[in-house]
Amino acid sequence: MEERAGLKIRIFGDPVLRKKAKPVKRVTFVHRDILSEMAQIMYAGSGVGLAASQVGISEAMIVVDAGQGLYKLINPVIVKKKGSQAIEEGCLSLPGICIKVKRAAKVVVKAQDDSCEPVTIEADGLLACVFQHEIDHLNGKLIIDHASIIDKLKIKKCLERLKKRSEHERLRESEAKSCKLQL
Ligand code: ZN
Repeated sequence: MEERAGLKIRIFGDPVLRKKAKPVKRVTFVHRDILSEMAQIMYAGSGVGLAASQVGISEAMIVVDAGQGLYKLINPVIVKKKGSQAIEEGCLSLPGICIKVKRAAKVVVKAQDDSCEPVTIEADGLLACVFQHEIDHLNGKLIIDHASIIDKLKIKKCLERLKKRSEHERLRESEAKSCKLQL
């Protein structure tokens, strides 16, 4: 288990966002705590979904609430896809960026809930889109990877700014960790 003091949203440029999340082998209270904290962070950021990678934890966990209630899922996988839809998506790790992403219109997701019970969810529309977005995160994939060449040019400067911000935040974090006693 990685260190989890003060979970906060990681911004584009942070290598954790490109890491493939490890499957959770045994669900413990720590995972339940992280999922609850992730839900709070998601709601505080007015998000509809959040993956553990986005708070610096490279384990396969997501939280989703697209208006149909809160899902806290462990080891989620898409087992069926149908049709297509394109919705403009933002991402809490890519503030200021909005990209139209083509995804399946309907999906079936299999996962475990936070009590380790197996769950199967059939989703369409926005909910289907959110599950695909969050499961992409667990595979190290971001909405910018779905962007067209024109979109990529449009967001180039914004991405450079985000990268700098992310570097700066990580630098400050490592400085703070360098000495226990900060006066
Ligand atoms: Zn995202």
